[in-house]
Amino acid sequence: MSRTTDVIVVGSGLGGLMAALAAARQGREVRIISEGTGCLAIGTGCVDLLGYAPDGASVEDPWAAMAELAPAHPYSLLGAEKVREGLDALTETTARHGLVLRPASRDGKPRNTRVPTIMGTLKPTYLMPDTFEPDDLGKAKRVLVASVMGFRDCRPALVIDQLRRYPDWANKEYFPCLIPTPFDDAHRALNALDLARAAERPGGSEWLIGSLKERAEGCDLVLMPPICGRHAGSPLARELREALGCPVVEMLSIPPGVGGLRIRDALMRELAALGVELVENANVIGAGVAEGKCLSLDISSTGRNYATKARAYVLATGGILGGGVLLEPGRAIERVFGLDLALPADVAEWTEPEIFGSQAVSKVGVRVDDKLRPLDANGALALENVFFAGRSLGAHDPAVEKSGYGVALATGWQAGLAAAELAAAAHNTGEAATGGEQ
Ligand SMILES: Cc1cc2nc3c(=O)[nH]c(=O)nc-3n(C[C@H](O)[C@H](O)[C@H](O)COP(=O)(O)OP(=O)(O)OC[C@H]3O[C@@H](n4cnc5c(N)ncnc54)[C@H](O)[C@@H]3O)c2cc1C
Repeated sequence: MSRTTDVIVVGSGLGGLMAALAAARQGREVRIISEGTGCLAIGTGCVDLLGYAPDGASVEDPWAAMAELAPAHPYSLLGAEKVREGLDALTETTARHGLVLRPASRDGKPRNTRVPTIMGTLKPTYLMPDTFEPDDLGKAKRVLVASVMGFRDCRPALVIDQLRRYPDWANKEYFPCLIPTPFDDAHRALNALDLARAAERPGGSEWLIGSLKERAEGCDLVLMPPICGRHAGSPLARELREALGCPVVEMLSIPPGVGGLRIRDALMRELAALGVELVENANVIGAGVAEGKCLSLDISSTGRNYATKARAYVLATGGILGGGVLLEPGRAIERVFGLDLALPADVAEWTEPEIFGSQAVSKVGVRVDDKLRPLDANGALALENVFFAGRSLGAHDPAVEKSGYGVALATGWQAGLAAAELAAAAHNTGEAATGGEQ
């Protein structure tokens, strides 16, 4: 049994990192226990808040559209102001580490904008890096679409073909180009992370600038994959823009998520500075529970099993993909506490024929109260010292409504604050952890 801490956060995706940040900023001792890195390692560097309304309509002002969401939606439980608190905490933290994230604005009001992907589609999002200026896209007439030899995920000709299908993009002049690989082996298959690493090595900036300078001449916009460094605050995108003399926009990419890793990098640096302990490759396989409280978590790590305790717990274990939700024949359960999650008993009703439609199975997750504590099947409080955050929550569908990072950061931040408050109260009343100090 390890030493009792104030707050244990399970999961190191965006939900878990924001929860740990909130609790640590309240002066609490925080330990993160995590099996893997979570979805930041596969996501982009843009934060979706709410891209589509429940009726499928495209959303311009996500703050106004939140009012239309179902009462059980995580945003409805928190209210827009608490969502904003989480968002501000994220942007203030990443900016401190050189990664400025901001929304586009129209008539002085923040709004969603549509950003090109390496498939040539346009995706709605809310926060994007400040190297990205949406007006540049609209104004551009001559666009260089660049990729790298050996990088099969981004084909300039395909990007251009797709972009031309959008009315705003149809009448631009496009120039596809493949720049040389930075690796000796020209036939190696590369991904965006390989290239972002290569760009940060000595000579990387010269490789990018040297390869693009001549090709970008006469162009007023360069679209390229997200390869300008994998760290928050990498100066490469700015250097490139200055050297080429025109806007350079990194398109959103499929995994691995270089943009998401930049956000993760900023948060990890901040958490390290606050003294947050990170236990990696550790799988929470169960929990000790009595009288509606979590007493301890059971951990399995590198062949060793042990229990660990805290005064309050945040579960940010993700959904089906993250590992927080398990699907079994005829039912879905939350993995650590074994909470039953509402899904029809007939598996045929879990999905719909329309692949991009709202699937019942995509919305499965833990039901919580407005403090993010789990509820049982009858709507009663299941555990009073446990708070859930992020994709582990039910009643929202990030893939369809485009709210992934938004829900994770807002609920993570509020769950961390609530856990910190509970842990502080336990300190004040002299209660060690539920079950006593080890
Ligand atoms: C391919 C892809 C791209 C995306 N791109 C974007 C994007 O660009 N913008 C956006 O806003 N949203 C995006 N999303 C959605 C977004 O990534 C997720 O909704 C959000 O990141 C979920 O964060 P989370 O912290 O709740 O969960 P996760 O990121 O899934 O993290 C779960 C964490 O819990 C850990 N864990 C789970 N179970 C256990 C256990 N028993 N013991 C220990 N640890 C455990 C996991 O290892 C992991 O660290 C994308 C999603 C996908 C799939």
